[in-house]
Amino acid sequence: MRQPLVSTRPPLDVTATPPSTHETPPRTFAAPVGSEASAAARRVGSSTVRDLLRLVGRPDVISLAGGLPDPATFPAAEIAAATTRLLATEGATALQYAPTEGDPRLRDWIRARRHARPGDDVLVTHGSQQALDLIVRATVEPGDAVVVADPAYVGAVQILRLARAEIIGVAADGDGLDVDALATRLADGLRPRLVYTVSTFHNPTGATLTDERRRHLGALADRYGFLIIEDDPYGELRWTGPEPVAMADCSERVITLGTFSKVLSPGLRVGYAVGPADLIADLVIVKQAADLQTATFNQALIRTLVVRPGWLDAHIDRLRSTYRARADALTAALASDLGDVLTCSTPTGGMFVWATFTDPRIDTTLLLDAAVDHGVGFVPGAAFAVGRDLRRSARLSFASVPPDQLTEASARLAAAVASTAG
Ligand code: PMP
Repeated sequence: MRQPLVSTRPPLDVTATPPSTHETPPRTFAAPVGSEASAAARRVGSSTVRDLLRLVGRPDVISLAGGLPDPATFPAAEIAAATTRLLATEGATALQYAPTEGDPRLRDWIRARRHARPGDDVLVTHGSQQALDLIVRATVEPGDAVVVADPAYVGAVQILRLARAEIIGVAADGDGLDVDALATRLADGLRPRLVYTVSTFHNPTGATLTDERRRHLGALADRYGFLIIEDDPYGELRWTGPEPVAMADCSERVITLGTFSKVLSPGLRVGYAVGPADLIADLVIVKQAADLQTATFNQALIRTLVVRPGWLDAHIDRLRSTYRARADALTAALASDLGDVLTCSTPTGGMFVWATFTDPRIDTTLLLDAAVDHGVGFVPGAAFAVGRDLRRSARLSFASVPPDQLTEASARLAAAVASTAG
């Protein structure tokens, strides 16, 4: 287990603090509060994506920046009814502390839904983000190499920086992580502790790792002894094409993360990890230290909803058709407004379009200012870059914007591009 981050800081000398007066504020507060942060915490940096979420609130900007589910899809009435029922039937236990591992009946449901392997166990976490954090804390020593796709999910990079991992970006394309490139790096001596992959409807590119690449990646894990984290928040949001082979069927060295954030509500903050029982046992100990357990009430609430036969699948079907119509509207509008200067991914699920300008002079970080002036927001590709130059690219999320607004967003983007030309 790595050293606590705070151990690198000298203890505060409280005796040196002058008395507080209106004229001389206490010295401990005179320096910016951030100066107390450990070196690792300072290196993390704020997530550009979360910073851009402030655009979401501006009425004059159509924001394609956030990866937020559409609030209109939240099953608020069902949640209200289930809350009343839960308090009446299980109030005493649902409002109480509970085991770190999670609600036993919810874990059983997750085990079945995720086709857990015989030696697997399930840990319920505070969103899948916490599952990732727990795995990294349990397995990574400072300086350990961890492979991520480049471009990468920003939330994973933040966790890895905090753990002082050596982050190794391996290029990803329209078929996901370039596993051949990873194989070359491994043959050259790279020995990662972890390979982190969002293999289905990747954030930010929307790409899905092909079955061939999944099998190859699994074989590499077996050969070189690294652990694969398959982070899968978007896999259920598929509206066309065959389901890919599960990463967990490609190697024993796989832990799969899932979440109720994209299919029910992110505000409930319930996610999970499914993986080898001995690894899950380690995560349970780290989670005990982190927060004791995930909110008992939220777990029980979700369980009462998802165990109703067919309810979740019907709900997800509605999400799929909503998101499909939006993806189609956005890609069609972009093709007609910007088709000569922009290439776009064609989503078959998930929440994102990855767009790349053909003109090498376009820098989407610079374009963003003009775009916001024209009333549209997105996330510049550079925000997701590990080592690659992604200045020509951008992530556009269609999930929380109705089709007519997406059409308007595309027109505004085209106007912004035209305003910067020449
Ligand atoms: N992984 C990926 C790839 C994500 O895009 C997100 C949400 N943006 C998460 C994990 C975290 O999701 P949550 O903690 O809400 O389950």
